[in-house]
Amino acid sequence: MTAYQNEKIYLDHAATTPLDEDIFKKMTPFFKGVFGNASSQHSFGREVANALTCARDDVARAIGVPSKEIYFTCGGTEADNLGIKGISLANAEKGKHIVVSAIEHPAVLESAYSLRQFGYEITEVNPDGDGVIRPESIEKALRPDTVLVAVMSANNETGVIQPIKEIYERVHAAGAYLWCDCVQSAGALPFSLFPADGWAISAHKFNGPKGVGVARIKSGVRFLPQMCGGHQERGLRGGTINTPSIVGCAEALCKAQKNCDEVNAYVSSLRNEFEKRVVALIDGVHINGKNAQRLPSHSDLSISGCEGQNIVMLLDMKGVAASTGAACSSGATTPSHVLTAMGLSAECVSGGVRFSFGKDNTPSEAQIAAQILSEVVSSIRSK
Ligand code: PLP
Repeated sequence: MTAYQNEKIYLDHAATTPLDEDIFKKMTPFFKGVFGNASSQHSFGREVANALTCARDDVARAIGVPSKEIYFTCGGTEADNLGIKGISLANAEKGKHIVVSAIEHPAVLESAYSLRQFGYEITEVNPDGDGVIRPESIEKALRPDTVLVAVMSANNETGVIQPIKEIYERVHAAGAYLWCDCVQSAGALPFSLFPADGWAISAHKFNGPKGVGVARIKSGVRFLPQMCGGHQERGLRGGTINTPSIVGCAEALCKAQKNCDEVNAYVSSLRNEFEKRVVALIDGVHINGKNAQRLPSHSDLSISGCEGQNIVMLLDMKGVAASTGAACSSGATTPSHVLTAMGLSAECVSGGVRFSFGKDNTPSEAQIAAQILSEVVSSIRSK
C-alpha cells in the first residue's frame, strides 16, 4: 500500500467545482433571514429586490455589459436553451437556418435540434484535428437564411479555445446572430475575447452554487421567453427569483475574475507538470488539442490500448476523480462526439480521458495522479 492511497484527488473541475467558503457565507442570510420574494411590494420584498439589483450590476460590471442585458437562469443549460431557441424563434423572418459547431455541449446541440419540429434546418461544422472551429468553415456554412450561429468559447472536453472574434465578424457580415456558450471559460478568461450577441454562464464552474447561471443577451436582440410564467426578469424569464443562488453566482464570478491571472498561472503549471510526467511515464499518449490554445485547467488524453471508461473506473478505485469527456454523458457508452468530430481514430475516441485541475489542487496531487495513471494503464495493458 503506497502512502497516497488514502488521499482522494479531485481532477474533474470541468464537471463542477466545490462551493467557495466565502461565497457560501454571502449566500447564507438569503436562505432564512432575508427570505422575501423579490416581486413583493413590502419591505421584505424590497430588501431582496435590492440584493438582486446589486447582483445583476456586479455580474454586468464583471463581464463588461449593461445590467439590462443580464437574465438570471437556473444554469448554463437554461441559458443555452433561452439563447438558441429564444433568438431563433423570435427572428424567424430572417430565416430558419442555424449553424452550430459539432463540438457544442448537448445544451446547445439539443436546443438546436429541437427547432427542427418548427421547420428549422441545422448545419453542423466540424473542427480541425486540434479541435479548433475554423472561421472559414463557419463562413462556408452561412446562408442568406441563417438566423443564428452557435460556437462555444472553449470546449468542455479538450479545453480548446475558439477564435470567436474572427467568427463573430463573419457571422455579423452575413446578418446573423452569434451565440457563444461561455460556461467553461467564465471566471478564467475575459469575456472581451468572445464578442457575441449572447453568452451562457454557469456559476458551479467557478466555485459558485449549482443550479444558477446567466444568459447575457445583447440589447436590441429579440428573443422569446422559454420559461413562461410571471413577469420576473422583465417578463422574459418567469419564476420566483432564486436570491441565495443569484447572490452566490455574482459573488463567485467577481471573485474568480479578480484572481484569474494568478489562478490561471498556478493551474496551468499543475496541468503542464501532470502532462510532462504522463508523457514520460506512459507510451502511446495523445494530448487532444495539444497544438491549439487551451484553457489552463484541461488535459484531455487518449491512451492507446485503453478504454477511457476503464481508466476512469480504475482511477476512481485508487482515489483519483477524472472523467470521460462531458460529465453529463459519462455512464453512457456513446463515444465522445467532440473527439469524433475532430477526426480522431476510433481508438483515440474510445481512449479519451479528461483531467481538469482547479485552484485547490496541489503540485504533489498532479505528480501523484500521473503516477497512478501510469499504474492503471500498465494494469489494463497487462490483461
Ligand atoms: N455548456 C457547457 C460547455 C458545459 O460544460 C455545461 C456543463 O457541463 C453546460 C453548458 C450546462 O451547464 P449547467 O450544468 O449549469 O446546466
